[in-house]
Amino acid sequence: MTLRLHDTLSGETRPLEPLTPGFVGIYSCGPTVYGPVHIGNFRSFLFADILVRYVRYRGLRVKWVMNVTDVDDKIIRGAAAAGVGIGELTERWTDRFLTDARILGMTDPDVVPKATEHIPQIVALIEELSRRGHAYRTDDGSIFYQISSWPGYGRLARLDPENMRVGERVESDEYGKDDVRDFALWKGPKRGEPSWSTEVGEGRPGWHIECSAMSMTHLGQTFDIHTGGVDLIFPHHEDEIAQSEAATGKEFVRTWLHCAFLQMAGRKMAKSAGNIARVDELLERGTPPRALRYALISVHYRMALAFSDESLAAAASAVERLDNVLAALDSYSEEREDDPSLDDVLANGRRSFEEALDDDLNVSGGLAAVFEVVRELNRRIGARSLSTADARRAADFLLDLDRVLGVMSAPTRKLESDVADLLEQRAAARAARDWAASDRLRGVLADHGIAVEDTRDGQRWRRVGEPSRA
Ligand code: AMP
Ligand code: ZN
Repeated sequence: MTLRLHDTLSGETRPLEPLTPGFVGIYSCGPTVYGPVHIGNFRSFLFADILVRYVRYRGLRVKWVMNVTDVDDKIIRGAAAAGVGIGELTERWTDRFLTDARILGMTDPDVVPKATEHIPQIVALIEELSRRGHAYRTDDGSIFYQISSWPGYGRLARLDPENMRVGERVESDEYGKDDVRDFALWKGPKRGEPSWSTEVGEGRPGWHIECSAMSMTHLGQTFDIHTGGVDLIFPHHEDEIAQSEAATGKEFVRTWLHCAFLQMAGRKMAKSAGNIARVDELLERGTPPRALRYALISVHYRMALAFSDESLAAAASAVERLDNVLAALDSYSEEREDDPSLDDVLANGRRSFEEALDDDLNVSGGLAAVFEVVRELNRRIGARSLSTADARRAADFLLDLDRVLGVMSAPTRKLESDVADLLEQRAAARAARDWAASDRLRGVLADHGIAVEDTRDGQRWRRVGEPSRA
């Protein structure tokens, strides 16, 4: 069995064959940090998270790079509107993004590069493109990519060459398919805009070149997988391919993955459409973080995901079913022979789970396999046909698959549920950097006879005596 992925460029679903055996380099276009990241954006990050987790589960090493776009047209407009510098604006929203990502159980990327910290690499790439005859300068100090110089232009987005407006230019970072023109690699200085003094002149980078430079800096000139939402296919990823391949003469990315939109009320969730939902708002309304994660990952990434109160409620009850079976297995105790058929149940469950995920990350199929096992386990728990050791094995099995899903919670063995709640609340407070609440909860836990310690791996607890209340 091998993981097969649907590559947008070739249109084929093909086995993942890493460039370096045993190692997979993955680049995900991260957020543009000019405001809150909404859960539509998080759909695109969490599908990449599932990919990373599954490739690791399969025993391969992964280097996951997710950039933060911290200078572009939108950021400059946003900072001007807020009356702050772009650094202040982007720092605030980057912190918030990382906090929300942790709350949603997203794996920390190995590198989170920022565009403004890669200006020399961006400039070097532009110089190389100029040297090779793919770029030209205009009077205002801008540099454009000449799309007619690159025969492969338009392959990813399947553009009709007839519609390319050769010799015309588009300045904006974002444009549609009816605007296929030469695009800006470097934007000459303008009053009120941040700019850098570099070998290609004064100015700032265009959005597309940032991702070419950051991905190749951290993953090499050719790497395995590049991800993003479908709205990035054109122009962003089309332009990334053109810039990178024209500069290096090598294939840029081996597999392109794009997720479909998260929709709310029948439309793409987007800040411009005004139909966004944010993580903090949903948590304030009492949504459990794991239920939100479940709602965002449980539909195949290439299918539209309709987000609603109903889908969230369904996700919450699925997560509760998982919590319940884990709690039941945890407290289960029966002195009897091991159940001879349990091994088959677990092995078949694992096989179905892996078959589904191998099939272009079919998470809903994977979840169906998990719930099939859960149903069997509940039946056996009810019938008391498992041994104590069987129950432990079954719990370990579920938690092992959860390395990929990240939606379960290991029961804090033998902890009273109110204490487990307090530990969860404190972990959430720390994730939200609410130090006052975290300290207060430490005190409450001490009253229950539980000492907590914060380690690099998170919160660790131990009993230090009897609870001070009965
Ligand atoms: P941005 O911050 O606009 O650059 O977007 C960050 C990521 O979120 C990109 O990969 C987008 O394709 C993705 N994205 C934006 N809106 C949605 C949505 N409604 N559903 C899924 N992905 C989205
Ligand atoms: Zn990008």
